[in-house]
Amino acid sequence: RIVYVNGGYRPYAQAAVHVEDRGFQFADAIYEVIEVRNGGLVDAPRHLARLARSLSELAIPAPMSESALRHVIHQVIRRNRVRDGIVYMQVSRGAGPRDFALPSPETPPTLVVLARTQRRGWAAELAETGISVKTTPDNRWARCDIKTVMLLPAVLAKDEARRAGAREAWFVDAAGNVTEGASSNAWIVASNGSLVTHPLDHHILPGVTRATVMDVAKGEGIKIEQRTFTREEVLKAREAFVTSATNIVMPVVKIDGAAIGDGRPGPLARQLRLRFHQVAEFSA
Ligand code: PLP
Repeated sequence: RIVYVNGGYRPYAQAAVHVEDRGFQFADAIYEVIEVRNGGLVDAPRHLARLARSLSELAIPAPMSESALRHVIHQVIRRNRVRDGIVYMQVSRGAGPRDFALPSPETPPTLVVLARTQRRGWAAELAETGISVKTTPDNRWARCDIKTVMLLPAVLAKDEARRAGAREAWFVDAAGNVTEGASSNAWIVASNGSLVTHPLDHHILPGVTRATVMDVAKGEGIKIEQRTFTREEVLKAREAFVTSATNIVMPVVKIDGAAIGDGRPGPLARQLRLRFHQVAEFSA
């Protein structure tokens, strides 16, 4: 396998970042994950716009132009012969003697781009049975809208979920509202039939899949309410699901061991999932 790091394409065994990279020392880095389908990218403009926004919110210089980055991404996909899978890219503020103070703006950011094959259909198969989620207090910081690699709360929440037999964790804030999943946005189909998901603010990541699922729902004439919802409302919901670039639309059939709706994947989640790739932007 080949990875792009520090300006070159290298085999994994020869690829490395500096021991004093700020991504390693301070989690001073951001990332993106894009779905690869038929060798092309799904929703690249939205992912690249969010990458640019994450960089700008943290005042990390862009490692290269968007068109150059697209070129690198496609090279990594091609050199690894990935047809279906994901691209992962990370940009850190670069390397320098460990210091909380930001380095000079001339410090070159570190860019890593890798691509991985994932068998087409794995998510569709999982969507046939759906997944369970476990709720956990949202102990993350107040800027969850920035896609940083500071993921320890999500790592621990997912581990807690896994030990309880669930595949995803749903964060619940101090007011009792579900904010989002550890690595996904959270949705329910309320008893009135509307899609409900947390509004965009500093408490959730503005999911690219979330945005495209909204486009799909609008096209299908499905009503969307961007508002908070509680765990109690989830228990009374008709359906629940999560969205992310790797899962697309994944039905949630249990929360903390209790069945949601009839305990089976719901029709709306299925409809949104089936329509998704017809609406998402594809760049070959
Ligand atoms: N929320 C969080 C915390 C995430 O980590 C992710 C994806 O990794 C998402 C939401 C979903 O975002 P996207 O649809 O852009 O993959």
